[in-house]
Amino acid sequence: MIVVMQPNAGPEQIAKVEERLRSFGYTVHRSGSEQIVLGAVGTPRSIPDPRDLQTLEGVREVIRVARPFKLVNRAFRPEGTIVDVGGVRIGGDELVVIAGPCAVESREQLQVAAAAVRAAGARILRGGAFKPRSSPYAFQGMGEEGLVLLREAADEQGLPFVTEVLDTADVALVERYADMLQIGARNMQNFRLLARLGQSSKPVLLKRGISATLEELLMAAEYIVASGNPRVVLCERGIRTFEPWTRNTLDLSAIPVLRKVTHLPVIVDPSHATGIRDHVNPMARAAVAAGADGIIVEVHPTPETALCDGAQSLTIPGFRELMADLRIIAPAVRRHFSAPQPTLRKTQAQPLFARACVVGVGLIGGSLALALRESGVVGRCVGVDRPEALDGIRAAGVVDEVVPVDRLGEALAQANLVVLAAPVREIEASLRLIALHLLPGALVTDVGGTKQLICESAAQALPPSVHFIGGHPMAGSERRGASAADPLLFSDAVYVLCPNPGTPPDVVALLSQAIRAIGAHPLEVEPERHDRLAAAVSHVPHLLAVALANSVGRLGLQDALALRLAASGFRDMTRTASSPYPIWADVLSTNRVPIHERLAFVRQCLDRLEAAMDDEGQLQAEIEEAAAHRLNVPRAIPGIQRSEAELIVRVMDKPGAIAEIATALAREQINIRDIQVLKIRQDENGTLRLAFENREITCQAAEVLRRIGQSVRLRSD
Ligand code: PEP
Ligand code: MN
Repeated sequence: MIVVMQPNAGPEQIAKVEERLRSFGYTVHRSGSEQIVLGAVGTPRSIPDPRDLQTLEGVREVIRVARPFKLVNRAFRPEGTIVDVGGVRIGGDELVVIAGPCAVESREQLQVAAAAVRAAGARILRGGAFKPRSSPYAFQGMGEEGLVLLREAADEQGLPFVTEVLDTADVALVERYADMLQIGARNMQNFRLLARLGQSSKPVLLKRGISATLEELLMAAEYIVASGNPRVVLCERGIRTFEPWTRNTLDLSAIPVLRKVTHLPVIVDPSHATGIRDHVNPMARAAVAAGADGIIVEVHPTPETALCDGAQSLTIPGFRELMADLRIIAPAVRRHFSAPQPTLRKTQAQPLFARACVVGVGLIGGSLALALRESGVVGRCVGVDRPEALDGIRAAGVVDEVVPVDRLGEALAQANLVVLAAPVREIEASLRLIALHLLPGALVTDVGGTKQLICESAAQALPPSVHFIGGHPMAGSERRGASAADPLLFSDAVYVLCPNPGTPPDVVALLSQAIRAIGAHPLEVEPERHDRLAAAVSHVPHLLAVALANSVGRLGLQDALALRLAASGFRDMTRTASSPYPIWADVLSTNRVPIHERLAFVRQCLDRLEAAMDDEGQLQAEIEEAAAHRLNVPRAIPGIQRSEAELIVRVMDKPGAIAEIATALAREQINIRDIQVLKIRQDENGTLRLAFENREITCQAAEVLRRIGQSVRLRSD
């Protein structure tokens, strides 16, 4: 029996109704916040007449639920349930993709899979540590070791994870590690296990049994909810039919049926449903089109070597393709994808380095200090800087303690990790100075933009009792100083590591782990190669920007029209020419030889182009080749969150114009990530630039704004 209260019913009225229901022998569950709904379940001593309950104060409606499932019945929570899994919400507008290997097999297998599925847009990691196998001789899973690896990989990627629990005896163990517990198809009617997970504080993924009806599935869910855990997600994973050409038969009609009769979210597992890799993508697309709240899919870096379910596991490129397909379908069924929020979660239970010392607490040093502390990589972090900078650094709160350079020795004497975060020449000069104070076994690294000079100097200056690994995070910002420090500065950035030849591999692995924990991607490169490539992709392009800006600027001295005609293309090409000299001084002067070599090569390219001016075919070939190369440049600038697409909206210059736009978007739950007024002139239209989370949302926003009559243009990167 379900009792719907009036929206304005008071607490005493609600309590009275609950009391009355209990007097019949019912157990009462509440749902709703503004409008309370009471679900009365159990076997009453006598069944009350709904008309009697209807007369109680504050009661709006009494519904007798004919179906045997009550608490998971949609009538009990008409608005639907959203299940939060470690911050990821299943059952809302977002389409949630859960992905990962069938079984955890090794750290490497899991780490590669986790990084790849996250990068492609999965929001939750999957992986079995306890495997229900049809044969007792098949791989049964890694057990607790697998759980440890899952936790580690999930944390490294900032994803929650789901894993199967096979037995009531394992629940406490699995609960300690996992963010969501899965009850597998074979256990759907293991009523003791269902009831035990009803007492869990973790959400549950309940898979449909191989020959279970939807009512049986819902009754299994009812067990969990009635035992006290309302956070249940249902999963259609195929049922056994007479059809032998697929492992199971995916019951797509389960999706609309379940969505009608229950308020619980419904996801689909196309992997177990089909058992065949080639059929996974089409069935996933169909599931999303049919209204599933998400999908769970098996992905393996090398399916051919998988210990379990290799034949149905997608490869990593296959998974990327699937995500690309779903991104097209989702908006058609009013669903969107969220980019994983780059938040730093404390990923290390124990700090990897008890004490760190950051020498030079500017933007990079400060951001690094913050990131290392927030991720739990370092226990305590001391900053060292010039006396005049100390107050600002203290105010920014990026380190636990900050000391002036004359107390450098003191700060270093206890540090297991030392980060030199100054310009290249200062780093080089400081190596001899710090050598006197370092703790034996300490790891020293730096963030300088050129690596050869620093790595060679370190090899000479530092005692053999310490380790040195040159570092260069490929992230930056136009802003400067500790006050602009951002712990997310390194998220998704490539972080170059140049270990000195004598550095043991486990020390390199330790620093790599630290770098992954702050969201960056460590990449080992020899110093000479780093500097040669940096000359090609950064230093020489900067010099070209300077040359271009000067060439047009000098022309502008003779003809002022020159600068007025130089529009956005010219600004783009010369952007780095605006950055102050000190930022470039050291990297340019410490990378002379590679820069000279590179400039000579660019000069050759210019000569070829000049010659091609008299040969149309050649010119066309040069230009087309450049366009092709440019397509291969990654779009996202590491470390900086950019929108793939933005909207340019022309707005009337009138009161409430922006409010109208913001309200229309808010009504559709669309979040504006960035807003900029590009041009406002009196009595003329203004122009707004709006940025959103991703391309789909941008397209949705465009549609919403067009519907309210705005003139909107999509601007793609
Ligand atoms: C699994 O998810 O790997 C699994 C065993 O699923 P099911 O219980 O649906 O077979
Ligand atoms: Mn499997």
